[in-house]
Amino acid sequence: MDNDLGVPHRKYWLDDGSLVVKLGNDLFKVHRSVLVRQSPSFYPSLRRLTTNDEPPPSDGRGIEKSKTFDTETSNDAERVLIDNTPVFSVNPQMTITTRDFEALLTYLYRDIPLNASANDSFHDVYHLLRASSPQTCNFPEAYAWAVQLWSDMFAAHPLTTEFGTWKNLHDALAISSDLRLKTVEKALFYAIVVSPDIHLEVPSSAETPSDAQIPHSSDLIASSHTQLSRRDYQRCSQLMHIIINHFTPMLFQPQTAGHMQCTDVLADRWMPLVVQPALANDGVYKPLETLRSMANIDWANEGLCESCISEKRKEWKEDAIDIWDRMDEWIELIDRNE
Ligand SMILES: [Zn+2]
Repeated sequence: MDNDLGVPHRKYWLDDGSLVVKLGNDLFKVHRSVLVRQSPSFYPSLRRLTTNDEPPPSDGRGIEKSKTFDTETSNDAERVLIDNTPVFSVNPQMTITTRDFEALLTYLYRDIPLNASANDSFHDVYHLLRASSPQTCNFPEAYAWAVQLWSDMFAAHPLTTEFGTWKNLHDALAISSDLRLKTVEKALFYAIVVSPDIHLEVPSSAETPSDAQIPHSSDLIASSHTQLSRRDYQRCSQLMHIIINHFTPMLFQPQTAGHMQCTDVLADRWMPLVVQPALANDGVYKPLETLRSMANIDWANEGLCESCISEKRKEWKEDAIDIWDRMDEWIELIDRNE
């Protein structure tokens, strides 16, 4: 089909569709009833195209103009039809992409059962979140479902989660922040701080970093596999700074145990077994991982008694949970100082 309005979508051009949705250069022929049933506001927000909006087609193939005037518009412009179907455009202020809208239609037409455990589900859920949110097309049921999948995908526990293996961190953080998904945002903040792929510059003082410390060449700061927006880069750098300030004294503090003899073992072995490996592995800003490594040392072999070992391991778990809880206020502090 040739027309000047755009390209019919290869999948969502449904023969019995009742309206054509134009998004950029893409045309989707879908059912009004399907849209209306699931969203209170999307269909009313669409704008019906008239001949005032678009240049007339050069040869008219595939496009007809209605013989009647559109009573929904305030002027006498003729409606634009394709296949005798009215054409509507998405409000350009809705910053959604074709892939976002495809994910929404996939959900609405139940074409693919999305599954949070599937390896490739990140992008499906990401685009559905973007399209269905209250800030965009506003499909409450689809959005609630996407938020649930997203929260499962980035569920985190301070004692067990392997944050270093998480992927797609920059996109995930950007949308979680936009949509104010605080629990996911916190987990992603931490994952970015400890990511082997993202290299943050730690601000040299506790102050908000000055412009001089942030590269100016671009709003995006590229590292080997990922890009963070400048704002997120600054927020993550500041969080890293706070973590280092909090955790470094804990790391260097002499540990005590229930018995004098066990305290002596800790004092003797702390530097070679804990501090030096932590310094070598950037452990000062990976507190959860460092605390886990501390617990995993074979302390019995070093001469610590069983009761002191279990006491110390319990303490280190509590330290990890405490740091995780404090991150909420640290992130709030960073956002307030922006
Ligand atoms: Zn002991």
